[in-house]
Amino acid sequence: MSQPTDSVLLKDETWERVDKATGGAAAPCFQCGVCTAICPLGLVKGETISIRKIVRQAQLGLPGWADGLWECTTCLWCESRCPHEVDITKAILGLRQLAWKEREVPEGLPTLLWDIYFDGNSWGRPPSERPLWAKDKAIKEFSPSDEILLYVGDDAAYDRRIQKVAHALVALLEAAGVTFGTLGEREPHCGDAVRSLGHEEYVAEIIESNAQLFQEAGVKTMVTVSPHCYDMFANRYPHFSDDFRPLHYSLYLLELINGERLKFEKELPLKVTYHDPCYLSRRNGICDEPRQVLESIPGLQLVEMERSRDDTLCCGGGGGRMWMETAAGERFSDLRVKEAAETGAEVVVTCCPHCITCLEDSLSQVGKSKLRVMDLAEVAHLALQS
Ligand code: SF4
Ligand code: SF4
Repeated sequence: MSQPTDSVLLKDETWERVDKATGGAAAPCFQCGVCTAICPLGLVKGETISIRKIVRQAQLGLPGWADGLWECTTCLWCESRCPHEVDITKAILGLRQLAWKEREVPEGLPTLLWDIYFDGNSWGRPPSERPLWAKDKAIKEFSPSDEILLYVGDDAAYDRRIQKVAHALVALLEAAGVTFGTLGEREPHCGDAVRSLGHEEYVAEIIESNAQLFQEAGVKTMVTVSPHCYDMFANRYPHFSDDFRPLHYSLYLLELINGERLKFEKELPLKVTYHDPCYLSRRNGICDEPRQVLESIPGLQLVEMERSRDDTLCCGGGGGRMWMETAAGERFSDLRVKEAAETGAEVVVTCCPHCITCLEDSLSQVGKSKLRVMDLAEVAHLALQS
């Protein structure tokens, strides 16, 4: 008897390939559709990402199962509300791993991985250029007697806009008398971009070799510019010694303020709103500390957006989306700058290189001329100078 043309033949091996690729993460999905209903992409695109549908179509091996898979920013919004506690990030990254095998990968991503492989950074630039962000500064090579290793990261090393953030952070560390150094040319890519794209095996290699490098260098407290690097070091790397303490710089600045090593004595009359990066807030529960840094600046007024803290709206740059095209008008950050402007703030402050890039891009499109985007380190540095 012939099969009806629209029927699907269930094959164990098709189902099992998804189970294997996702480490079983997709299996508890009840297909309830909560994730599909609440994905914030619907706010800007009119159409959400349907995790439910991607999972089911992949399990059935339907053509086009990966449609929408690469749009996810791994913002954790749906995962934090899934009634069946599905590890949606793990499922997405596992399905991306499968998509590589089945050649369902957007243009440009293979080049990105080759850049990281050959040059050790996501910008495709020579490692010898990595220390150039600090060419006018006397920043020394890290030594184990230093209080911290400053892990600069790809964006702050190579992106001129984010270099300014690193410059501000260095000025703050110097003002507090912190002894620090960097790994200079030897600083490796943290692995976040590779992990976001679902290359589990390659990221495992990166983590192993970097952990060895950090251990041999005698790294203890490590301060990162990016929440994405912080998330990698805090949650994906082995803690190779009891003293290994990765910190996002907002946490470290607060330690310096609480220890009275960093003091803001002059008034900075600025009305700001704070945009929580998802990789700090939803992923790592860091909401209070950046706000406490802002609140320690006399004269600064902090006003909140409705979507804030754990309920923040993603900027659109996580989950590898920084390296993929998003049409103007369909960016989370387009909506975010409008929300920031509605608070009446002069400045939207954040502390993630991806957020800075996305928000500034959107600001130039949306045209909220009275609003500026600044990094937390830049605001703190301004407070020190004012
Ligand atoms: S909310 Fe959770 S259980 Fe429901 S469809 Fe989405 S992933 Fe599956
Ligand atoms: S993680 Fe965020 S972007 Fe991805 S599907 Fe869930 S809500 Fe949408």
